[in-house]
Amino acid sequence: MLTLAIQKKGRLATGSLELLEHCGIHFEHNGQEKLKTEALNFPLEMLFLRDDDIPRYVEDGVADIGIVGENVALESAADILKVLPLGFGKCRMSIAVPKHLAYTGVQDLQDKRIATSYPRLLKKFLNRNKVSAQIHEISGSVEITPGINMADAIFDIVSTGSTLISNGLREVELVLHSEAAVYRNRRLNPGKLALLENLCFRIQAVNKAKDHKYILLNVPNEKLEQVCRILPGMKSPTIMPLGEPGWSSVHSVIKEDKFWEIIQQLKDAGAESLLVTDIEKMIL
Ligand code: ATP
Ligand code: ZN
Repeated sequence: MLTLAIQKKGRLATGSLELLEHCGIHFEHNGQEKLKTEALNFPLEMLFLRDDDIPRYVEDGVADIGIVGENVALESAADILKVLPLGFGKCRMSIAVPKHLAYTGVQDLQDKRIATSYPRLLKKFLNRNKVSAQIHEISGSVEITPGINMADAIFDIVSTGSTLISNGLREVELVLHSEAAVYRNRRLNPGKLALLENLCFRIQAVNKAKDHKYILLNVPNEKLEQVCRILPGMKSPTIMPLGEPGWSSVHSVIKEDKFWEIIQQLKDAGAESLLVTDIEKMIL
């Protein structure tokens, strides 16, 4: 049995539970009301915790693995291992100053008061840049502190930047990119490691599928070569003759981020009746 710690409530909670569901791991849906629950069809027990507590639980071995933001794991300085980034819960951590303040570079932070909930990460950044400043650790609403003259700058999570703007702040230093990731305890026994490997195999198949689309298109035979050159499929595309003589059906897999670009090229090359579908799992 593998014990997994996930966030009880918050920005990572839904993403974590959905990921497990997509991996074919089912559990009772009122699970989140409890402190822990067992999966119905995988040897997995889940603990629902505050995200800040997850690195420590994993370090201590109360949980074998945990899903938590890289920002929180790094700030905790827990002695745990990152196994797999997950592609959700993406954010960045930045330093912001009042928007009218002149700012020319990190040296301008010298001797300033910086408010943050992430004192360790901030200290590391300042040390790296040989700047010394006063770090004011507070647990929430960091972005209001310059407005009430409690701080000269802040170090906090930014996702869209709209919270900064509405507090009259502007982002001046991007310190860290973060996303949710699976972390594990350093000393897992071989049985638990095998379960973790199985879980990661499933997660990778799900996440890879999310980044890809399956496409089918009809192509006149004389254009086949040109169309196949455009398609960077997993291997070479599948080509099957259509009922109508002189035409073929081509099947392939393309990356989501190249999608529109490739579709246009395929149309220009003479492809017709393009059909695009999501892929549920992808195993290479
Ligand atoms: P908890 O009650 O579990 O302590 P919290 O209030 O500390 O929750 P959330 O706001 O749910 O935490 O954020 C959890 C994590 O989600 C953050 O540590 C970060 O990794 C990630 N995240 C992604 N985007 C954002 C965002 N826009 N604001 C805050 N966190 C974000
Ligand atoms: Zn938290």
